[in-house]
Amino acid sequence: MSPSLNTFPGQPHVARKEGSLCVEDLELETLARQHGTPLFVYSQQWMLDALAAYRRGFAGRDALVCYAIKANSSLGILRVFAEAGCGFDIVSGGELARVLAAGADAAKVIFSGVGKTRAEMRQALAAGIGCFNVESEAEIDVLNEVALAEGRRAPISVRINPNVDPKTHPYISTGLKGNKFGVAHDRAVAVYRHAAALPGLQVVGIDCHIGSQITEADPYLDAVERVLDLVQAIEAHDGIRLHHLDFGGGLGIDYNGDTPPAADALWQQLLARLDARGFGERRIVIEPGRSLVGNAGVCVTEVLYTKPGEEKNFCIVDAAMNDLPRPAMYQAFHRIEPLALRADEPTVRYDVVGPVCESGDWLGRDRDLAVQAGDLLAVLSAGAYCMSMASNYNTRARAAEVLVSGDKATLIRRRESIEDQLRTELP
Ligand SMILES: *Cc1c(COP(=O)(O)O)cnc(C)c1O
Repeated sequence: MSPSLNTFPGQPHVARKEGSLCVEDLELETLARQHGTPLFVYSQQWMLDALAAYRRGFAGRDALVCYAIKANSSLGILRVFAEAGCGFDIVSGGELARVLAAGADAAKVIFSGVGKTRAEMRQALAAGIGCFNVESEAEIDVLNEVALAEGRRAPISVRINPNVDPKTHPYISTGLKGNKFGVAHDRAVAVYRHAAALPGLQVVGIDCHIGSQITEADPYLDAVERVLDLVQAIEAHDGIRLHHLDFGGGLGIDYNGDTPPAADALWQQLLARLDARGFGERRIVIEPGRSLVGNAGVCVTEVLYTKPGEEKNFCIVDAAMNDLPRPAMYQAFHRIEPLALRADEPTVRYDVVGPVCESGDWLGRDRDLAVQAGDLLAVLSAGAYCMSMASNYNTRARAAEVLVSGDKATLIRRRESIEDQLRTELP
């Protein structure tokens, strides 16, 4: 067997051992037999290694990594990061409840998002979160009102839309003038002056987040420069001091030959820029999501039928767009690997599709596979934006999840039952 079949790019903890696909020291086939399919399996070591790479990049600095939990908000995953001392980036009151349940330190929680409700603001003030990343002038006034009514001061950072040129950086999708996120770069100074004068608010930082699955360093570094320009302009007004600089998340992972910069190398470059401009002593915050979990996870699924056709052959599996929404939503690529190889059988070119009644329900197109009904496949790179986006469409139960550490497996979510799904509905 060629060595290239034994491991997969970006996923050193997913490997074929004696022909059988494993996550860390455990065979996926054994886990699938025990827990059924579709089944998400995560490598704890991959997550800790990814976090360690960020921390290496920030060694010796005052820096806080806040895991952006919308990438994967399962409690068992959050506990791994909470125990490692991570902060968290949340975007809803529900996510706040999750991180607190996982044992997060509220002071290390930052609250992003363009549409925070008053109730969510009250909940976050009561919990004592570290920072509200506000995204509009209207939100600033509402948060001030809510904080005053609660007898508190809300710590805030204003999310800046750096408007990094799309022509040079086509992957950026949230940091452009046409996006709904953040406050326009040229409004920033006025917005900070306004916020600093409000008695219910305490200005503590500045933030930006330019997009997701970014595979080049330049957009980040451009955004950093644009934010630092603003820090200088904002602090030229007396009384405003930005204690932390938050550069968001968005670092990509290797799905299929993608070559994102390594976290440690990227953050060293960023720190060099900060040092050069005299900001090296500031507290740095970052909000990575995908790059802390994406390649930690696989989704195991069973082949239900193979269906030859005149134009296309279909491999119909028991996972679907409700479990793995990224192909349907973004035409995203996930590598698909059989758990056991049928080495002597010819491959057939298939579209791998789920049972959901939508033509958009596909997991992979034009994949060469030697498979039969009953075989198990692993959809790789399924740690981020899969389970957290899963739905009950077609009244399908959400999958079970297992966390693997070495030769130890922990069921962190049981498979949903039909009773779970019907519980909130009235007769
Ligand atoms: C989604 C999001 C992140 C995380 O993005 P990744 O691409 O998963 O790293 C960080 N910050 C904010 C504000 C976000 O919306």
